[in-house]
Amino acid sequence: EAIIVAEGVEKWYDNSFHVLQGVSLSVNKQEVVVMMGPSGSGKSTFIRTFNALEPYQKGSIVIDGIKLSHDLKNIDAIRREVGMVFQQFNLFPHLTVLDNVTLAPIWVRRWKKQKAEEVAMQLLERVGILEQAHKYPGQLSGGQQQRVAIARALAMQPKIMLFDEPTSALDPEMVREVLDVMRTLANSGMTMVCVTHEVGFAREVADRVVFMDSGKIVEIAPPDEFFNHP
Ligand code: ADP
Ligand code: ADP
Repeated sequence: EAIIVAEGVEKWYDNSFHVLQGVSLSVNKQEVVVMMGPSGSGKSTFIRTFNALEPYQKGSIVIDGIKLSHDLKNIDAIRREVGMVFQQFNLFPHLTVLDNVTLAPIWVRRWKKQKAEEVAMQLLERVGILEQAHKYPGQLSGGQQQRVAIARALAMQPKIMLFDEPTSALDPEMVREVLDVMRTLANSGMTMVCVTHEVGFAREVADRVVFMDSGKIVEIAPPDEFFNHP
């Protein structure tokens, strides 16, 4: 059953650069899709359309039955469904780890502080950051910060998680700990769309690999096929 249905999505800039040239993709519930392709091919732009971070001019996107209008009018409904993790963690530096995770549940979902903190502590334990809950992001390693960012996204109880090169800004020794959290999340049944160059992760975790080039999807295949053809 599809939870993301993107059809013929097109986006161009004022200078006429056509970054998405009619991109269609359906993602099923609990599916893990990895997006690959050269830098500048539109992968990030495409997945950012799924949570209304990126307006587009043509085509249609339906997220869990909610149609995302071109002008991003129903942005709030969509954002509750779709969590996102960025290359540059984007944590609030002046808030503790715990406050970073509880901020949106308290202000957007209107949860009581105590409930939000209980849920946050469970999530921080799940991503292995419980001991750092009262520290500030600047006191954590990049890998730890990214795991906080994952916990923060999960705190909104999204149905879909988007990852935009989540390990590209990390030192090599920290890549694994983030990929391990992503793998566990995938095994728990989360629907995930991940832009990443991590071939090992794609081979082991992806249900399908999508290859984009110059604003188009040029191949969609299961990892076995994708990585083994001549
Ligand atoms: P990927 O994730 O595959 O690296 P992106 O989705 O980040 O690709 O690609 C965005 C492309 O759109 C890049 O080629 C970038 O230069 C171009 N782009 C981004 N913003 C603008 C803009 N305001 N005007 C023109 N081109 C832009
Ligand atoms: P990143 O690789 O960090 O994702 P983006 O492609 O999102 O970078 O671009 C970062 C900023 O630069 C955006 O505001 C985008 O609109 C602008 N930008 C990127 N490429 C171009 C371009 N070719 N022409 C004009 N603006 C661009």
